[in-house]
Amino acid sequence: MPAAALSPEVLAKYEPVIGLEVHVQLLTASKAFCGCPNRFGAEPNTNICPVCLGLPGALPVLNEKAVEFATLASLAINCQVRERSIFARKNYFYPDLPKGYQISQFDKPLAEHGWIEVPTADGGTRRIGITRLHMEEDAGKSIHDGLADSANHTSLDLNRCGTPLAEIVSDPEMHTPDEAFEYLTRLKEILLYCGVSDCNMEEGSLRCDANVSVRPKGQEKLGTKAEVKNVNSFRFVRAALEYEIERQIEVIEAGGRVIQESRLWNASEGRTYSMRSKEQAHDYRYFPEPDLPPLIVAPAFLEARRAELPELPEARRARMIAEYEINRQDSFTLSASREFADRFETAAKSARNPRRVANLLLNEVGGRLKALELEQENSPVSMAGIVLAADLLDEGKISSKQLKQLFDVCFEKNEDFPAVYEREKPQQITDASAIEKLIDEVIAANPKQVEQYRAGKKTMAGFFVGQVMKASKGQANPALLNELVTRRLEG
Ligand SMILES: [Zn+2]
Repeated sequence: MPAAALSPEVLAKYEPVIGLEVHVQLLTASKAFCGCPNRFGAEPNTNICPVCLGLPGALPVLNEKAVEFATLASLAINCQVRERSIFARKNYFYPDLPKGYQISQFDKPLAEHGWIEVPTADGGTRRIGITRLHMEEDAGKSIHDGLADSANHTSLDLNRCGTPLAEIVSDPEMHTPDEAFEYLTRLKEILLYCGVSDCNMEEGSLRCDANVSVRPKGQEKLGTKAEVKNVNSFRFVRAALEYEIERQIEVIEAGGRVIQESRLWNASEGRTYSMRSKEQAHDYRYFPEPDLPPLIVAPAFLEARRAELPELPEARRARMIAEYEINRQDSFTLSASREFADRFETAAKSARNPRRVANLLLNEVGGRLKALELEQENSPVSMAGIVLAADLLDEGKISSKQLKQLFDVCFEKNEDFPAVYEREKPQQITDASAIEKLIDEVIAANPKQVEQYRAGKKTMAGFFVGQVMKASKGQANPALLNELVTRRLEG
């Protein structure tokens, strides 16, 4: 179906409505209801036991750490946590679900009524509602290719059975693929900051299903939705939504009806395919899990989780903007991960001037990394190196020109700043009379600027400092130079 055939005028008649379901594996040591290791990449079918395989007579026991993580995540996305939630059996058959049902939560989930802030194109933010967060277990994995006998067989790896999941369901209130992309990015960031999941999409620890429908603008009633299943990158979610929105509009424009169904995204073809008609909730015959008591989240447990909440990314960015006098774009760079933000802030606090550390990291180091297309983790200059550079600048022991030259050497030779500084310790002119001689030359050569300074334009001092620094080939001691220039001009 050539989606490009639709004109902007036709597209503009419709409003897309998007809701997202995110499954996130919780980073517990053991599984949700048994003691098997919860670990990716083990030999197939080695981390399994009667409980996670659902063998007759086996009984599940809830992993408290999983409840801690799910509760922490619920608070981080501003949900109300239910004191008493109920596990339910979701019955369906699938080869990688040996129990024939999944332990999930249904009408009494762990948490509801949350929201997160998502940046908008105009530089503001918009609040996206979160319907619920509930706990459930993962299924195993069917392996259709990559093995010697894959041409004839599908293999099963049941290690993943019983891995604890939080499913986070947004309200259906996003209207563009870009907004969905932002929501996912921010949600993932929050979960990473909380440390409840590694959110590794390649390993499947964060997975996303997108529900999308279109309706004529102004119509209250939602259109029929399609669900795009298991898209494995946020970029693909955006592309799949773009495709799906146009496909649905095309169907309606041609006089047809959108069918409620699950669709699969094919990344190499850039389109979705019908997979199966979508189950309704009643198809699963949910009923309360008879082997597990209601989950009670006592007030003390909840408060303990609240106390564990880290400073979340959006709040951290707001504080960083104020504290380090940086712009919003730079605050995203510095808060890219909690680990990086922590390292930066620990370093900044140890320096004489934390703002200078931010500035050097973003501009001097960041600029060189960008020019070389390197990531932060490949930077030759460590945080400690940046702190040393900032302090040397601050104490006037090197000029900013010398600093730039030293950083250039760091990047050329892939060496950290302290080593380069020790070796190349730039010459510095600290002899006042030598500097004064240069100042006199510059003053003599620039009578007009001297006049302006003496007429009250004090900022002219910077001009003289710059000129003398240049004449000294960047070697004049900056603090001394500043002092001498002012004294000479005033004198
Ligand atoms: Zn097990």
